[in-house]
Amino acid sequence: MNILIIGSGGRESAFAWKMAQSNRVSQLYIAPGNAGTGRYGQNVPLQVNDFDGIADFVTRHRVDMVVVGPEEPLVNGIHDYFLEHPDLRHIPVIGPQQQAAQLEGSKDFAKQFMVRHGIPTAAARSFDKTTLSEGLAYLETQHLPIVLKADGLAAGKGVLICATLEEAKAELRAMLEDAKFGKASRKVVIEEYLSGIELSVFVLTDGNSYKVLPPAKDYKRIGEGDTGLNTGGMGSVSPVPFADNEFLDKVEERIIIPTIEGLKKDGIPYKGFIFIGLMNVAGDPYVIEYNVRMGDPETESVLPRIESDLVDLLQGVAEGNLFERSLVLSPKTAATVVLVSAGYPGAYESGKAINNIENVKDSMVFHAGTTEVNGVAHTAGGRVLAVTALEDTMFEALQQATADAGRIYFEGKYFRKDIGFDLL
Ligand code: AMP
Repeated sequence: MNILIIGSGGRESAFAWKMAQSNRVSQLYIAPGNAGTGRYGQNVPLQVNDFDGIADFVTRHRVDMVVVGPEEPLVNGIHDYFLEHPDLRHIPVIGPQQQAAQLEGSKDFAKQFMVRHGIPTAAARSFDKTTLSEGLAYLETQHLPIVLKADGLAAGKGVLICATLEEAKAELRAMLEDAKFGKASRKVVIEEYLSGIELSVFVLTDGNSYKVLPPAKDYKRIGEGDTGLNTGGMGSVSPVPFADNEFLDKVEERIIIPTIEGLKKDGIPYKGFIFIGLMNVAGDPYVIEYNVRMGDPETESVLPRIESDLVDLLQGVAEGNLFERSLVLSPKTAATVVLVSAGYPGAYESGKAINNIENVKDSMVFHAGTTEVNGVAHTAGGRVLAVTALEDTMFEALQQATADAGRIYFEGKYFRKDIGFDLL
C-alpha cells in the first residue's frame, strides 16, 4: 500500500515511525512533514488544507489510504472532498467527515450530542450575541469558578476559567460583543467547573466497532509544577496509574459505548480516531472535550505502546471490519518530553541548528517543528522535538526521556524536567 499522512508535527512523526514498520506499506508519504519524517518516508511539499493539491498527488502517486493528523483539514471537510470526487471516492480517508468533525469544531454541537445521549459532562448552556443579556443573568445563578468556552476552534486558547462574577461577565461580553476569539466566539458555552484530575482516552472506530487505545496524561503548562502559560503540550505519559481497570470500565460503559452508539443513532458516519478529554471527579469520568484526531504529544506516548500493526487496524477502519483486527498493547510505560524554542508559547526563536539527536540511543526522537537546512535539522516551530522512552517501569521511562531530552542541544532549548514525576 501507498499511504499519505497529512501533517507536520510530532504526532505525524510518530504515525510515520509506526506505519513504516508495517510490511504492508510500499511507500509512505508525509505532507508536508518535517526534518525527521523523511527518515520514514518521502516528504511532500503540500499544505494540509490544499485539498486540490493533495487530490492531484494522491492520483498521480497511486495512494491507497490517507491518514489525517490535525483537526483543521477534517473540520474543513477533507474527507467529504474525497467522497464527492468520483476518482477519489474509493480511497479511504482516516479521519471523520465534516459533520462528525463538529464534535471538535463546535463545543455547542459536542455538548448537545452528549446531553442527547446521556454522556456525563459538565452542565452547560450556550449563548450568542442576541442572548447576551440572558447569558449575563445566567452567570449570576452559577457557582464560581465558572468556565467560558468559545464555540469554535480557537487554537487551544478559547477556554477561560473565571474566578469572579465580574471577570466572567467581562469575558462573556468580550467574546460575544468584541469577537475576542473572532468567529470562534460568536457562540459561547458557559459550563460548570469540574474539579479533578484530567486524562485522555483514545478510541479508534470504523463507525460501528471500536478499539480502545492506551490512555495518556498530558502536561499543558510551560512551567515545572504545572505553572505558567498553556502550551500545545510539554509532555505525556501512558499508561496513567490513576486510570485503573475499574475507572476505565466506567469510561467504556458510560462514555465510549454511548458515543459510538450515539453517532450511529444520529446517522453520523465516523471513521478515525476519537480523543476524549476526561476529568476524573472522585472516581467518576466526565467528558471535558472531544477531539476528532489523536492528541499531540499523547500520540508519541500512545503509539509506542501499540504492538500490533497500525496499518492493519486502519485497514479495518477503512473496510468496516475493525472488530476482526487484533490490538495488542505493551505493558511498558511510555514517557514523552517535549523540547521547545526560547520564548514559546509566546513569540519564539527559529532557525537554530540542532545537535546530538543521533547520539540519543535509548529514546525515540520524534521531530515536530524542524526543517532541514543543508542536511542539518534546524528549529522551525515552538515545539521542536518530542523525546519518548519506553521502559518496564514508569520511573525508568521518566528518567530516560528526561535524561535524553537534556542530551540534545539547540540555542534557547527548554524542556520540563518534572513530566510524569507527579504520577510516581
Ligand atoms: P478544552 O479546550 O475544552 O480542552 O479546555 C481546555 C482546558 O480547560 C482543559 O484541558 C481543562 O483543563 C480546562 N477545562 C475545560 N473545561 C473545564 C471544566 N468544565 N471544568 C474544569 N476545567 C475545565
